[in-house]
Order: sequence, then structure tokens, then C-alpha cells
Amino acid sequence: MIVLKFGGTSLGTPERMKGVAALVNQIQEQKIVVLSAVSGTTNALVALSDALRKGASEQAQSALQALRKHYDQYIDDLFADQGMRDQASAVIDKYFHELRRLTSQPFSEQIQKVIVVQGELISTNLFSLLLQSLDSPGHLLPAIDFMYLNEAGEPDIPVIKTRLQPLLKKSEGATYVTQGFICRNADGGTDNLKRGGSDYTATLIGAAMSANEVQIWTDIDGMHNNDPRVVDNTHPIHRLSFDEAGELAYFGAKILHPNCIIPAQLHNVPVRIKNTMSPESEGTLITSQRDPKGAKAIAAKGNITAIKVKSSRMINAYGFLRKIFEVFEKYKTSIDMITTSEIAVSLTVDDDTMLTQIVEEIKPFGTVEVDKDQAIICVVGDFISESQGVGTVIFKALEDVRLRMISFGGSKNNISILIDGSSKEEALKRLNDHLFASVPLD
Ligand code: ASP
Ligand code: MG
Repeated sequence: MIVLKFGGTSLGTPERMKGVAALVNQIQEQKIVVLSAVSGTTNALVALSDALRKGASEQAQSALQALRKHYDQYIDDLFADQGMRDQASAVIDKYFHELRRLTSQPFSEQIQKVIVVQGELISTNLFSLLLQSLDSPGHLLPAIDFMYLNEAGEPDIPVIKTRLQPLLKKSEGATYVTQGFICRNADGGTDNLKRGGSDYTATLIGAAMSANEVQIWTDIDGMHNNDPRVVDNTHPIHRLSFDEAGELAYFGAKILHPNCIIPAQLHNVPVRIKNTMSPESEGTLITSQRDPKGAKAIAAKGNITAIKVKSSRMINAYGFLRKIFEVFEKYKTSIDMITTSEIAVSLTVDDDTMLTQIVEEIKPFGTVEVDKDQAIICVVGDFISESQGVGTVIFKALEDVRLRMISFGGSKNNISILIDGSSKEEALKRLNDHLFASVPLD
């Protein structure tokens, strides 16, 4: 079995949805197709629920009308046949009727959760109709029937397997279609796997079913060795290990959901990133195979907050770090980078929602300094044998950039450097020149 996930831009126009159907139909193996919402839809639904939260119900209604218009046009262009158009219209009617019902109820967080996943229900139903019109029908699997979050809010792979397996009874080359993003939580309610969560759906299914491969079809020809929006002449990396891909997914390479590598790695299912706009491109293949070739990619994550706690009481004291970490735990704020000296510890967080409370509670432990708008630059690769060489090149490349924190040794795959956010682009370019374009070290 193979799992194929197509993101919103791959379905962004009716022409593209037809292209996806053609790609799917070329594959003879049994397959599960995971679809995101058509691009722009989830953003529109999130904006709509934000408006409802604020009580701006007129604004919400007009947003709903605009979205409906978009879909009316979409289905007109998707189907030439009037009979198919009528069926597609009935699908749109059904989900917009549901959306109107939801928006007219008193707002709650649970209603918001149901609203934001309607895009995936629409896209998968339209795609099923499209397959039907091409005489290659697929079987629609409601994700809510098998994608399950446990009490801790984590996807539970054994439960997903138990629920999904009995649904896959069709013949050899069957095509199944399901929604990304949507899941059911331990309370039985509709929930989601967070923004970009369809990738996670795909690797969770791949892991649960021990698929031969998970393919993530997107709008770029694989993970690149640097940010193509900032640096010229980046290139796709053809092979990455799970560890390397996991680091990159977390640190700013926005192609994959940060958690989606975990299930694939745990169950050793290869993940291939492919470009829907250029299916012949090789893309990136992520497997357990390691290739100790030093630096492979550079990624950056902005809007980072650094917190430094300085105290002479830290010298020879035990339990100091624990007390600090407990404050972050209490406010459910995860720490990304950490460095320590004898008298100070610096930490970074990318979610500063609870920053004021955290700072108040760590003040009794020492002098606290907060720096906002920082950036983590992360060099990813396999540094087992080459760490010294890579370190020299990184320092040389960044000689004019003020380094705020440096972290190496947490994993063999990541060297992270914290710098001021305003130097981010410059650092990405300079590192690119020195690591990949072989600028001599003088
Ligand atoms: N539609 C959801 C989002 O836009 C999930 C996904 O596309 O992966 O975040
Ligand atoms: Mg995505």
C-alpha cells in the first residue's frame, strides 16, 4: 500500500485537481489518498471563526458567501457534464448548509473545531466525484472514523490501526480517499491535527498500515538546502535521513508539518516529497539511511524570544535548572534552544503567549533578561565525523554577525545559532556561500 497526500495548492484550481486525479490513476498499487482543503479555504474558515468569536456575525456571513461563490465557480470548471455538476452542487449545498448552521449557533471552541475542518470534507467529496466521472471510482473513508487523539491529545497509532484496518476491504488496486487534518479526540468530539496537519495524517496512516511509502505531493520539488525565498540557487536535497528531515521540518523549512516525520521514523516508512507541478522531478526521499556527508541544509526560524536567567546561586547548585524548567512546564511552553554557563542559562521559545507570567515566576531565581525578535539559524546534516570542519566554516561565514547563543551536541544532526532577527537573511546567504558554494577560508 502507498499513501499519497496532496496539499491545498495541488488542488488550488479545478485543473490541478484533475491533474491530481491523473497522477493517482497512474498508480496500480492499493493507495490511500489524503487531501487537504483547497488552498485558501482553511484560512477563510479560521478568519470566519475569529469573526464569530468577536461577535462580528455579519462579517462572518459575508465571508461565508464569498467562499461559497468561489466553490460555485470551482465546480463549474471541474465538471463539463451537467449531471456531475448537479451532484457537486449538492455536495457544496450540504457543507455550506452545515456551515450556516454552525455559524448561527452561539460560538464555542468546539464549534470552531468543527468549522475549520469543513474544507477537507468538501475537497475529498469533490475529488471522489471527479474519480467517479473518470470511471475510476475511489472509496471515501471518513477520517473521523479512524484518526484518533488520546487523552494526552496525541495521535494513537495502535487505535488508528484497529479502526482503519477493517475499513480497507476492497480489492488489490483500490483507491481510498480521506481527509487530512480531521480527527476525533478522546472526548469523542471533532478535532484537528493543527495547521498543516494533513502531512501528519498521511504519515500516521502510513505508520498504522505499514505502508511501502508515504508521498507528500506539494508545490516545490523537495526539501531545499536553503530558503529559496531568501537565497538564490538553492537546490532540492534528494536524500535525507529521518533525523535530518525532522530537524528541518521543525526549523523553518515549512514544507512539512513539524511532527509528521515521527510516525514514519518509528515505523520505518519512507517519506517522499514530490512536486505536483513537476511530477518528473526527483524530489526528496527520507529514509532511515544515514549519509555522513556534513552540512546538507540551512533553515531559519524567526520570531524567537530569548530569555536569560543569571544568578551566582547557580554555581555548584543542583536543582536550579529544574526550578526554571518547571515554570515553562506549568505554562505549557516548549523550550527550543538552551545554553548554560556557570552563572547563567539562556533559553529560547517560539511561543511567547505566556511570557509575562513565565518571567514573573522565574524572577526570584535571578536577573532575567528578555530579547524578542531573535532568529534561530540551523545547519542540518550528519556531523558525526565532520563537526570540526563544519564549525570552522560556520564561524567564518558568520564573522560579522553577532552570535547570541550556539548549540551543538544535542543531536548529531543540528548546529543551531541564535542571532538577532534582523541578521537572518544575511546569515542564510553567507552560510550558503561558505557551506555550499565553497568560498575559500582565506
Ligand atoms: N487545511 C489544513 C491547513 O490549511 C491542513 C493542511 O492543509 O495540511 O492547515
Ligand atoms: Mg502543508
